[in-house]
Amino acid sequence: MSTRGSLVDMKILVVTAHPDDVDFGAGGTIRKWILEGHDVVYCLVTDGQAGGSDNTITRDEMAAIRRREQTDAAAVLGVTELHFLGFPDGAVMADLNLRREISAVIRRIKPDRVLTQSPERRYDRIYASHPDHLATGEATMCAVYPDARNEFAFPELLAERGLAPHTVAETWIMGGPNPKHFEDVSATIDAKIAALMCHASQHQDPAAMRERVLQWAAIVADAGGLPSGTLAEPFLIVDTK
Ligand SMILES: [Zn+2]
Repeated sequence: MSTRGSLVDMKILVVTAHPDDVDFGAGGTIRKWILEGHDVVYCLVTDGQAGGSDNTITRDEMAAIRRREQTDAAAVLGVTELHFLGFPDGAVMADLNLRREISAVIRRIKPDRVLTQSPERRYDRIYASHPDHLATGEATMCAVYPDARNEFAFPELLAERGLAPHTVAETWIMGGPNPKHFEDVSATIDAKIAALMCHASQHQDPAAMRERVLQWAAIVADAGGLPSGTLAEPFLIVDTK
Protein backbone atom coordinates (compact mmCIF):
# COMPACT_ATOMS: atom_id res chain seq x y z
CA MET A 1 0.00 0.00 0.00
CA SER A 2 1.33 3.42 -0.93
CA THR A 3 0.34 6.98 -0.33
CA ARG A 4 0.23 9.64 -2.97
CA GLY A 5 3.56 11.34 -3.54
CA SER A 6 5.74 8.38 -2.73
CA LEU A 7 4.45 5.82 -5.09
CA VAL A 8 6.32 2.70 -6.05
CA ASP A 9 5.00 -0.36 -7.81
CA MET A 10 1.37 0.44 -7.22
CA LYS A 11 -1.46 -1.71 -8.45
CA ILE A 12 -4.03 0.42 -10.24
CA LEU A 13 -7.46 -0.75 -11.39
CA VAL A 14 -9.38 1.24 -14.01
CA VAL A 15 -13.15 0.67 -14.18
CA THR A 16 -15.00 2.15 -17.17
CA ALA A 17 -18.26 1.56 -19.01
CA HIS A 18 -17.09 1.31 -22.63
CA PRO A 19 -14.03 0.59 -24.74
CA ASP A 20 -12.29 3.97 -25.42
CA ASP A 21 -13.52 5.70 -22.23
CA VAL A 22 -10.18 5.26 -20.46
CA ASP A 23 -8.25 6.40 -23.52
CA PHE A 24 -10.26 9.61 -23.92
CA GLY A 25 -10.35 10.41 -20.21
CA ALA A 26 -6.98 9.29 -18.98
CA GLY A 27 -4.78 7.83 -21.74
CA GLY A 28 -1.91 10.22 -21.06
CA THR A 29 -2.09 9.60 -17.32
CA ILE A 30 -2.22 5.82 -17.76
CA ARG A 31 0.93 5.98 -19.91
CA LYS A 32 2.65 8.04 -17.19
CA TRP A 33 1.68 5.50 -14.55
CA ILE A 34 3.08 2.67 -16.67
CA LEU A 35 6.34 4.59 -17.24
CA GLU A 36 6.53 5.19 -13.46
CA GLY A 37 6.51 1.42 -13.00
CA HIS A 38 2.97 0.86 -11.80
CA ASP A 39 0.85 -2.12 -12.76
CA VAL A 40 -2.41 -1.05 -14.43
CA VAL A 41 -5.39 -3.37 -15.01
CA TYR A 42 -8.57 -2.48 -16.92
CA CYS A 43 -12.11 -3.57 -16.05
CA LEU A 44 -14.70 -2.89 -18.79
CA VAL A 45 -18.31 -3.07 -17.69
CA THR A 46 -19.65 -3.44 -21.27
CA ASP A 47 -18.22 -4.47 -24.63
CA GLY A 48 -19.45 -1.25 -26.24
CA GLN A 49 -21.69 -3.11 -28.64
CA ALA A 50 -24.00 -0.07 -29.03
CA GLY A 51 -21.12 2.11 -30.23
CA GLY A 52 -20.28 3.36 -33.70
CA SER A 53 -22.57 4.04 -36.63
CA ASP A 54 -22.04 0.89 -38.73
CA ASN A 55 -25.43 -0.86 -38.97
CA THR A 56 -24.17 -3.47 -41.44
CA ILE A 57 -22.65 -5.69 -38.76
CA THR A 58 -24.30 -7.42 -35.84
CA ARG A 59 -23.93 -6.07 -32.32
CA ASP A 60 -22.08 -9.26 -31.34
CA GLU A 61 -19.58 -8.53 -34.10
CA MET A 62 -19.26 -4.95 -32.87
CA ALA A 63 -18.64 -6.23 -29.32
CA ALA A 64 -15.82 -8.47 -30.57
CA ILE A 65 -14.31 -5.61 -32.60
CA ARG A 66 -14.43 -3.24 -29.63
CA ARG A 67 -12.90 -5.74 -27.21
CA ARG A 68 -10.05 -6.18 -29.68
CA GLU A 69 -9.67 -2.41 -30.18
CA GLN A 70 -9.55 -1.83 -26.43
CA THR A 71 -7.02 -4.63 -25.99
CA ASP A 72 -4.83 -3.07 -28.72
CA ALA A 73 -5.20 0.43 -27.22
CA ALA A 74 -4.25 -0.93 -23.80
CA ALA A 75 -1.13 -2.53 -25.27
CA VAL A 76 -0.10 0.82 -26.78
CA LEU A 77 -0.07 2.30 -23.27
CA GLY A 78 1.54 -0.80 -21.71
CA VAL A 79 -1.55 -2.39 -20.15
CA THR A 80 -1.95 -6.10 -20.78
CA GLU A 81 -4.58 -7.32 -18.29
CA LEU A 82 -8.22 -6.57 -19.12
CA HIS A 83 -11.42 -7.89 -17.55
CA PHE A 84 -14.65 -7.59 -19.55
CA LEU A 85 -17.74 -7.95 -17.36
CA GLY A 86 -20.14 -8.27 -20.32
CA PHE A 87 -22.97 -6.02 -19.11
CA PRO A 88 -25.19 -4.62 -21.91
CA ASP A 89 -24.02 -1.36 -23.49
CA GLY A 90 -26.61 1.37 -23.07
CA ALA A 91 -28.36 -0.34 -20.16
CA VAL A 92 -25.85 -0.21 -17.29
CA MET A 93 -27.53 0.15 -13.89
CA ALA A 94 -25.73 0.90 -10.62
CA ASP A 95 -27.51 -2.04 -9.02
CA LEU A 96 -26.36 -4.67 -6.55
CA ASN A 97 -25.45 -7.06 -9.36
CA LEU A 98 -22.95 -4.60 -10.87
CA ARG A 99 -21.66 -3.58 -7.42
CA ARG A 100 -20.98 -7.26 -6.63
CA GLU A 101 -19.11 -7.89 -9.88
CA ILE A 102 -16.94 -4.76 -9.55
CA SER A 103 -16.30 -5.65 -5.90
CA ALA A 104 -15.19 -9.09 -7.06
CA VAL A 105 -12.66 -7.56 -9.46
CA ILE A 106 -11.39 -5.19 -6.73
CA ARG A 107 -10.97 -8.11 -4.32
CA ARG A 108 -9.20 -10.16 -6.98
CA ILE A 109 -6.82 -7.42 -8.21
CA LYS A 110 -6.34 -5.73 -4.76
CA PRO A 111 -5.54 -2.27 -6.20
CA ASP A 112 -3.93 0.54 -4.21
CA ARG A 113 -5.71 2.99 -6.49
CA VAL A 114 -8.90 2.82 -8.54
CA LEU A 115 -9.65 5.12 -11.46
CA THR A 116 -13.26 5.36 -12.58
CA GLN A 117 -15.86 7.65 -14.15
CA SER A 118 -17.81 10.32 -12.34
CA PRO A 119 -21.25 9.43 -10.99
CA GLU A 120 -22.07 13.16 -11.22
CA ARG A 121 -23.52 14.59 -14.43
CA ARG A 122 -21.76 17.49 -16.15
CA TYR A 123 -24.16 19.92 -17.72
CA ASP A 124 -21.48 21.85 -19.61
CA ARG A 125 -20.09 18.80 -21.45
CA ILE A 126 -22.96 16.39 -21.60
CA TYR A 127 -21.33 13.63 -23.66
CA ALA A 128 -18.91 12.95 -20.80
CA SER A 129 -21.98 11.99 -18.75
CA HIS A 130 -23.41 9.05 -20.72
CA PRO A 131 -25.81 7.21 -18.40
CA ASP A 132 -23.54 4.15 -18.53
CA HIS A 133 -20.65 6.31 -17.29
CA LEU A 134 -22.71 7.67 -14.40
CA ALA A 135 -23.90 4.16 -13.45
CA THR A 136 -20.40 2.70 -13.71
CA GLY A 137 -18.99 5.51 -11.56
CA GLU A 138 -21.72 5.09 -8.96
CA ALA A 139 -21.38 1.30 -8.78
CA THR A 140 -17.59 1.56 -8.59
CA MET A 141 -17.72 4.12 -5.78
CA CYS A 142 -20.13 1.81 -3.91
CA ALA A 143 -17.74 -1.09 -4.52
CA VAL A 144 -14.75 0.94 -3.28
CA TYR A 145 -16.74 2.00 -0.24
CA PRO A 146 -18.12 -0.02 1.39
CA ASP A 147 -18.69 -3.25 -0.55
CA ALA A 148 -15.19 -4.48 -1.41
CA ARG A 149 -13.83 -3.88 2.10
CA ASN A 150 -16.83 -5.11 4.07
CA GLU A 151 -16.82 -8.85 4.67
CA PHE A 152 -20.57 -8.73 5.30
CA ALA A 153 -21.28 -7.17 1.88
CA PHE A 154 -21.83 -9.89 -0.72
CA PRO A 155 -20.69 -12.70 1.64
CA GLU A 156 -20.87 -15.07 -1.34
CA LEU A 157 -17.74 -13.44 -2.76
CA LEU A 158 -15.71 -14.94 0.07
CA ALA A 159 -17.78 -18.09 0.58
CA GLU A 160 -18.12 -19.10 -3.06
CA ARG A 161 -15.24 -17.36 -4.86
CA GLY A 162 -12.67 -17.11 -2.07
CA LEU A 163 -12.37 -13.32 -2.47
CA ALA A 164 -11.35 -11.66 0.79
CA PRO A 165 -12.23 -8.03 1.60
CA HIS A 166 -9.91 -5.34 0.23
CA THR A 167 -9.66 -1.61 0.96
CA VAL A 168 -8.76 0.75 -1.90
CA ALA A 169 -6.69 3.62 -0.49
CA GLU A 170 -7.31 6.19 -3.18
CA THR A 171 -9.80 6.72 -5.99
CA TRP A 172 -9.37 8.95 -9.04
CA ILE A 173 -12.52 10.16 -10.79
CA MET A 174 -12.59 11.36 -14.39
CA GLY A 175 -15.24 13.12 -16.45
CA GLY A 176 -16.85 14.83 -13.49
CA PRO A 177 -18.01 18.41 -12.97
CA ASN A 178 -15.45 19.46 -10.35
CA PRO A 179 -11.92 18.23 -11.09
CA LYS A 180 -9.26 19.44 -8.69
CA HIS A 181 -6.17 17.65 -9.98
CA PHE A 182 -4.72 18.43 -13.41
CA GLU A 183 -2.21 15.80 -14.51
CA ASP A 184 0.43 17.11 -16.91
CA VAL A 185 0.37 14.71 -19.87
CA SER A 186 2.43 16.82 -22.30
CA ALA A 187 5.04 14.05 -22.57
CA THR A 188 2.53 11.23 -23.09
CA ILE A 189 -0.14 12.84 -25.27
CA ASP A 190 1.23 11.07 -28.37
CA ALA A 191 0.72 7.69 -26.70
CA LYS A 192 -2.82 8.73 -25.73
CA ILE A 193 -3.62 9.65 -29.34
CA ALA A 194 -2.05 6.42 -30.60
CA ALA A 195 -4.24 4.48 -28.18
CA LEU A 196 -7.32 6.38 -29.30
CA MET A 197 -6.52 5.60 -32.93
CA CYS A 198 -6.87 1.88 -32.09
CA HIS A 199 -10.62 2.46 -31.69
CA ALA A 200 -11.01 2.68 -35.46
CA SER A 201 -14.64 1.57 -35.44
CA GLN A 202 -15.53 4.75 -33.52
CA HIS A 203 -13.69 7.38 -35.56
CA GLN A 204 -14.93 8.69 -38.86
CA ASP A 205 -12.35 11.47 -38.90
CA PRO A 206 -9.19 10.51 -36.96
CA ALA A 207 -7.39 13.76 -37.81
CA ALA A 208 -10.22 15.83 -36.36
CA MET A 209 -10.29 13.61 -33.28
CA ARG A 210 -6.58 14.24 -32.75
CA GLU A 211 -7.11 18.00 -32.97
CA ARG A 212 -10.03 17.82 -30.53
CA VAL A 213 -7.95 15.86 -28.02
CA LEU A 214 -5.06 18.36 -28.23
CA GLN A 215 -7.38 21.35 -27.88
CA TRP A 216 -9.19 19.85 -24.95
CA ALA A 217 -5.92 18.94 -23.16
CA ALA A 218 -4.72 22.54 -23.60
CA ILE A 219 -8.00 23.92 -22.19
CA VAL A 220 -7.77 21.56 -19.22
CA ALA A 221 -4.16 22.60 -18.52
CA ASP A 222 -5.18 26.26 -18.67
CA ALA A 223 -8.11 25.64 -16.30
CA GLY A 224 -5.71 23.94 -13.92
CA GLY A 225 -3.30 26.86 -13.94
CA LEU A 226 -0.50 24.92 -15.62
CA PRO A 227 2.01 26.84 -17.78
CA SER A 228 1.02 27.86 -21.28
CA GLY A 229 1.75 25.11 -23.80
CA THR A 230 1.11 22.36 -21.25
CA LEU A 231 -1.39 19.56 -21.90
CA ALA A 232 -3.37 17.98 -19.06
CA GLU A 233 -6.11 15.56 -18.02
CA PRO A 234 -8.48 16.49 -15.15
CA PHE A 235 -9.38 14.34 -12.13
CA LEU A 236 -10.92 14.47 -8.72
CA ILE A 237 -8.78 12.47 -6.28
CA VAL A 238 -10.68 11.00 -3.35
CA ASP A 239 -9.09 9.61 -0.19
CA THR A 240 -10.88 6.27 0.25
CA LYS A 241 -8.69 4.78 2.98
ZN1 LIG B 1 -18.33 5.72 -22.92
